[in-house]
Amino acid sequence: MIQGISGAAGVAIGKAFVLPSWEWDLPDQKMDVVDLAKEFERLYEGIRTSRNEIEIIKQEFNEVVGPEESSIFDAHLAILEDPVFMSEIQGIIERQYKAAEVAVKEAIDHFVTMFDLLDDEYMKERALDIKDVGNRLLKHLLGAPEITLPSDTQPYILVAKELSPSQLAHLNPNYVLGIVTLIGGKTSHSAIMARALGIPMVSGLENSVNLPVQTGDTLIINGDEGTVYVNPSEKMMEKYTRIRNQQLRKKEQLQVLAEVDAVTKDGTLMNLAANISSTKELEMALRHGAKGVGLFRTEFLYMDRATFPTIEEQYEVYRHVVERAGGQSVVIRTLDIGGDKQLDYFPLAEEDNPFLGYRAIRISLDLKDLFKVQLTAILRASVHGKVKIMYPMISSIDEIREANQVLHEAMGDLDRQGINYDKDIQIGIMIEVPAAVVMADLLAAEVDFFSIGTNDLVQYVLAVDRMNEQIAHLYHPFHPSILRMLKMTADAAHTAGIDISVCGELAGDERAVPIWIELGIHNLSMSPQSLLRVKHRLLNTNAEEAKEVAKSCISMSRSQDIEAKLEEFIEENTER
Ligand code: PEP
Ligand code: MG
Repeated sequence: MIQGISGAAGVAIGKAFVLPSWEWDLPDQKMDVVDLAKEFERLYEGIRTSRNEIEIIKQEFNEVVGPEESSIFDAHLAILEDPVFMSEIQGIIERQYKAAEVAVKEAIDHFVTMFDLLDDEYMKERALDIKDVGNRLLKHLLGAPEITLPSDTQPYILVAKELSPSQLAHLNPNYVLGIVTLIGGKTSHSAIMARALGIPMVSGLENSVNLPVQTGDTLIINGDEGTVYVNPSEKMMEKYTRIRNQQLRKKEQLQVLAEVDAVTKDGTLMNLAANISSTKELEMALRHGAKGVGLFRTEFLYMDRATFPTIEEQYEVYRHVVERAGGQSVVIRTLDIGGDKQLDYFPLAEEDNPFLGYRAIRISLDLKDLFKVQLTAILRASVHGKVKIMYPMISSIDEIREANQVLHEAMGDLDRQGINYDKDIQIGIMIEVPAAVVMADLLAAEVDFFSIGTNDLVQYVLAVDRMNEQIAHLYHPFHPSILRMLKMTADAAHTAGIDISVCGELAGDERAVPIWIELGIHNLSMSPQSLLRVKHRLLNTNAEEAKEVAKSCISMSRSQDIEAKLEEFIEENTER
């Protein structure tokens, strides 16, 4: 057994497909090149083929995941035309009489080493791009076979040293049974995406420098415990096949609920929307019966690319999401970078406390032109359905007003250009900073809705860094202080007559259902994978009974007692 970290829950059993890293058998480095013209012709032919290939991949990518992800290939195309990179290769062929493939390899090594030495994350990322493009060119020069995923043949467990979110976005979730990566933790974006797509994942394998698995090996991966079994015994296979079948049966049973309303036994109706960060996650959410999008984490649109996305690029993505939501509302949260989310091309200075630092709305209000680009794109998309705008990490009235000022400027620009948008677009804020809870009554007067972000709220209220494994046992979403904060926020929203929802991970925890009912919170937004489980819980709950349970929880003084009470309630209301 190999121990790793749980990336995404669930058991997967299947054959491994190890994603090969490109490693080459080059011709003798000292080979004399007699025919320079022939060698150049080979080089140009390789460049042409590589360019066509990248164009095709870009096109396919665009169709599957949309323009935001596919634009990374523009950076790859630019490298093939980069005069410095190309003249380095040509120089090696011409002056040192080396074969084209040797020249390409030496040029890659030269630039990668040079960029790697720089203390600049952006340049390090560019080194990866050069490696990727250079390897593609090498592959053509050497006539090496294409590395293709066996996606159209049979399901497999993908094993890789490392998997970027864009690589993951490229996978067909119907064929990828599970994912194992040597590098990466629970909070890596790949893990977040795997969870949203429902693909079990184990990452961060302990003490493993080399992958202990070969293509064709049989694997069991247990995403709940973060374990991997390579070529397991028959007994293990039987045990885990049983567990996996139970999980699949449960999933199937839940799937029939996709079209059913989320209503308690005694008629309290809830709206269950989805948190998404990509168009692929949106499709998953719709399959699971999501009623709209309660949180569109737009920062993923800004990642895995070389520059900030333009108005047009963002508009295309937002429009797609809004149209697919088919009349249900889509809450688009403005850029929330900083903290654990970084952009390669916009390096943020190192901070002692990044979660208390330059992040989210603070960045948007500092870089207003950038903010206006995003707001303009959202406004333009608002004519295609029901769009709402949400500002993250608000802690004062001034931030809301300043953000709205930029919004009004964007509206003015559109008016002047004669471009239509929803003039009554709703504006809301994330309630995720304790200050916002304490002054929720004042903030409520400024906005159309609140959405409680429990992930950050818990870390700020309890002073427990949500990324720190060492203190993970202190991160208690059911802490009495949190329940009180939820109540304060809900009461303020109700008094002001504005909408309220919850979009932190707690919304997807079925144990919390009685709390929402008691607090009168009828809008929840969660990971697509949690939708059916929470709906199932609601269908098995009597709202009046739930309120009693929640009332007693809110008066309790220990998280453990609150959790026990909520779990007992589930136990009492689960059919055997
Ligand atoms: C939250 O903080 O609860 C939230 C939903 O936002 P994120 O997890 O993206 O910070
Ligand atoms: Mg947050």
